[in-house]
Amino acid sequence: MKILVVNAGSSSLKYQLIDMETEKALAKGGCERIGIPGSVLKAKGNGNEKVYEQDMPNHKVAIELVLHALQDGEIGVIKSMHEIGAVGHRVVASGEYFTKPTLVTPEVQKTLEEKTFELAPLHNPAAATGLRACMEVMPGTPMVLVFDSSFHATMPEKAYLYGIDYDDYKKYGVRKYGAHGTSHKFVSAEAAKYIGKKPEELKIVTCHLGNGSSITAVDGGKCIDTSMGFTPLAGVMMGTRSGDIDASAVEFLARKKGLSHADTVTYLNKKCGVAGISGVSSDFRDLDAGAKNGNKRCVLALDMFNYQTKKFVGAYAAAMGGIDCLVFTAGIGENSPHIREGVCDGLEFLGIKIDKKQNLMRKDGILDITAKDSRVKVLVIPTNEELVIARETAQLL
Ligand code: ADP
Repeated sequence: MKILVVNAGSSSLKYQLIDMETEKALAKGGCERIGIPGSVLKAKGNGNEKVYEQDMPNHKVAIELVLHALQDGEIGVIKSMHEIGAVGHRVVASGEYFTKPTLVTPEVQKTLEEKTFELAPLHNPAAATGLRACMEVMPGTPMVLVFDSSFHATMPEKAYLYGIDYDDYKKYGVRKYGAHGTSHKFVSAEAAKYIGKKPEELKIVTCHLGNGSSITAVDGGKCIDTSMGFTPLAGVMMGTRSGDIDASAVEFLARKKGLSHADTVTYLNKKCGVAGISGVSSDFRDLDAGAKNGNKRCVLALDMFNYQTKKFVGAYAAAMGGIDCLVFTAGIGENSPHIREGVCDGLEFLGIKIDKKQNLMRKDGILDITAKDSRVKVLVIPTNEELVIARETAQLL
C-alpha cells in the first residue's frame, strides 16, 4: 500500500508518498506561499526534482498540484491517484479528545474543528484545512489523523497535571499534552533496535532539538514525562519561544509593555528564546558563527540552551530512576556537535560520556557517539516523523 503523508501549515503543505512494503519515500515535496502571491511547489520523485511556480490560492489547489506532480512525467511515481491507499494527516494537538490515530468520520472532523483549535491555534486550523482539501480532491480515500501528542498519552497524572485547582483541569482540560510525539516515538524505538534490547528493558531520554525543542523520558517504551506542556511554548527555550517562565513574570511583562493577553503569548512564541537572548537569530548556525566571532550574547544563548536541556536530562533520569540511553535528533540534535557536547558536558556523574572525535562525524543513519567508558549509550538518530504517520495510518486501516 502507498500512503500519502500530509503536513499542512497555514500557508504551506509538505508531503511524502511512502511505499509501506519498503517503508521508503517514493516522492516528497512541499508547497509554499499558499494563498500568497509567488506560490511554489518543490517536488522530488524518481531521483529528479521539479519546481512548479503556479498560483495556489488555497490548500485545495495545492493538493491538486501535488497529485499532478505525483503523476507527472519524469518525477511521477504513480499512474493514478487511486494507487494512494490512504492519507495520513499530521495534527499537532489532540487535547483529551483523541489519544490515538483516528480514522476521519464527519464526527471526528467536527471534534477536530470545534474542540481542538484553541489548543494549537497556529497549527490545528491549518491541519483541518489540509484535511478538507484532501477530502474534496480525493473523495473515497480513507483519511487518518495522527497526533503529535498521542505518544505522550501514557504520561501518568502526576506528570501531566499542573498545580492548579483540579476542578479547573477537569472543566477546561488545562494540563500538559506534549508535542513532537511521533519523533520521540520513532527515535526511542530505533535506539532500542540499535542497542539490541526490547523497548520494555530500557530507560531512554530523547532530545528532539530543532526550531521547536522538547525532551522526553521514555521508560519501557512508554512516555512518562515530556518538557512541552499545554502548548509547545513550554520546556526549554527555543529558536523564538521562551520555554518555561513564571506566570507572574508574564503578567508583569504584559503590563509593562502594554500588551493584550493574545499579544503577550505571541511575544513569548515569536520574539523570545535564543533569538531574543542573542539579538542575532533563531538559527543555531548563526549563533555558532556569532559565538565564534566573540558575540557574548550568542555565547550566552547557547549556554542557556545547553544548560536547560541538560537539566531536563538529569530530571528525567531521576524520574525514571536511571538512564540507559540518551538520543539526539532533529535539526540541531542531528547537526550540531557543539550542542551535543554542551548538553553532555557535566553529565559524567550519570554515566554519560561522549567520544568527542566521533561526535564530530557525520553519517546518514545512526551515529553512535558513546565513549568507550560510558555506561549510557549516546546516539544521534535522524528522525522520520512521516514514516511514523504512514505506519500508524496503515496499521489503523
Ligand atoms: P523544525 O522544528 O522546523 O522541524 P528542524 O528540526 O528542521 O526544525 O530544525 C531546524 C533548526 O536546526 C534550524 O533552525 C537550525 O537552528 C538548526 N540546524 C540545522 N542545521 C544545523 C547545523 N549544522 N548546526 C547547528 N544547527 C543547525
